Amino acid sequence: MEPGRVIILGAGVAGLSTALPLLRAGRAVVVIDPLGPAGGASFGNTGLLSADTVVPIALPGMLRKVPRWLADPLGPLVVRPTYLPRATPWLARWIRAGRMDHVRAISDAMRALHAPAFDDWRNLLGATSYSEFIRRGGQVQIWDEPGETPGAALERALRARHAIKAELLGADDLRQFFPGIARRVSRGLLIPGNGHMISPPRAVRRLAELFQAGGGIILPERAMKLIPQEGGGWMVMTNTDNHRARQVVVAGGAWSRLLLDPLGIRIPLETERGYHLMLAEPSVVPRLPILYKSGNFGVTPMEEGLRVAGTVEIAGLDAAPDERRAQQLLNQLRCLFPDIQAGAQRLWMGFRPSTPDSLPVLGPVPSHPGLHLCFGHGHFGMTGGPPSGRLVAGAILGDRPPIDMAPYALSRFQ
Ligand SMILES: Cc1cc2nc3c(=O)[nH]c(=O)nc-3n(C[C@H](O)[C@H](O)[C@H](O)COP(=O)(O)OP(=O)(O)OC[C@H]3O[C@@H](n4cnc5c(N)ncnc54)[C@H](O)[C@@H]3O)c2cc1C
Repeated sequence: MEPGRVIILGAGVAGLSTALPLLRAGRAVVVIDPLGPAGGASFGNTGLLSADTVVPIALPGMLRKVPRWLADPLGPLVVRPTYLPRATPWLARWIRAGRMDHVRAISDAMRALHAPAFDDWRNLLGATSYSEFIRRGGQVQIWDEPGETPGAALERALRARHAIKAELLGADDLRQFFPGIARRVSRGLLIPGNGHMISPPRAVRRLAELFQAGGGIILPERAMKLIPQEGGGWMVMTNTDNHRARQVVVAGGAWSRLLLDPLGIRIPLETERGYHLMLAEPSVVPRLPILYKSGNFGVTPMEEGLRVAGTVEIAGLDAAPDERRAQQLLNQLRCLFPDIQAGAQRLWMGFRPSTPDSLPVLGPVPSHPGLHLCFGHGHFGMTGGPPSGRLVAGAILGDRPPIDMAPYALSRFQ
């Protein structure tokens, strides 16, 4: 077994963001993924890079909303009733994470992780590819309600805690920003420090190309079991082969639990399934991405066209997609831009890897030497993936962590 060799399971944004710094530090690195680069959630997300977003998903008052989640199969957040018994322990933790004292601590940890996201993307991609894929012109949140909603007030307080800039936009500003936007939209907020990517899959595949060009190896195999070896190190048993290394990183997104459960490592990881509708040749191309807070979805201008994405469906890894959820994103988009026309449409569903506290699980597993974790980025993996990869690679290389890693440690669940 080559002593410095590292095997990384998963070629999404999390796995490749870990693989590249290790390779650049001189390690032999093998990435294993049956779907290849960007075959999971990293393919179809909304592409928002939200370095200045400090608001977790679980917020106070969630318990009140549970009946609604179960009643409307096309609502913005739905729990499939047949999956409810399996999801209940995770949902209970999720609701608990929404307590205000937790929300503040989570917000601080989001800030510490996400603030350098643009720098990390630049370091990973290099200046030329960074400018090809990444736009840092801001994001605009919009509401129908003319006054500040309680949710928006809470978000304002969290932004103030971190001195994050935001600019209020009135109805007239919004018409200027987004010609053709519906009259119902009356309030907006520009977050200038945020941005977006024009093609999440191409950007992640570019990471893979850079990795391979530097001598990294990507194997199209599925890890079936992680087997600790006598004398240290791991054997990864895949569907076709056995691979050995001193160190293994689990970066399998929403599927990561399947590899850890047999080792007795219990992590509350659920999937919040999300959908997108990709519209080619749209007649409306907003100049900045929009987060429609009253409708719970995002609209991002991308090189392929306009991506309308969002919604949360708690239904596990096995249930078939409910394509109506993607289709109805078009009706919702028409509430925003009533006159929009478009060409071909693509429906997509993906698996957000979500912990109850909106924070990923990063770093070593103390009970299993040589095993490292880098998953659980939920709604924020395109933002948090590159900083997480840097931190996990740093831990393997023995670097002193630049931030307190406790909020992301496995031990918080134990
Ligand atoms: C609709 C939607 C919108 C989103 N919008 C945004 C956004 O705007 N901004 C943002 O920051 N984030 C967003 N996200 C979240 C983001 O996409 C994810 O957090 C991120 O892509 C997770 O990356 P990952 O590498 O952990 O997982 P993935 O990209 O899912 O990659 C995991 C990989 O592991 C592989 N794998 C699984 N099991 C095994 C195994 N046994 N052996 C080997 N490999 C395995 C899979 O094949 C897969 O390729 C969104 C997600 C969704 C679904």
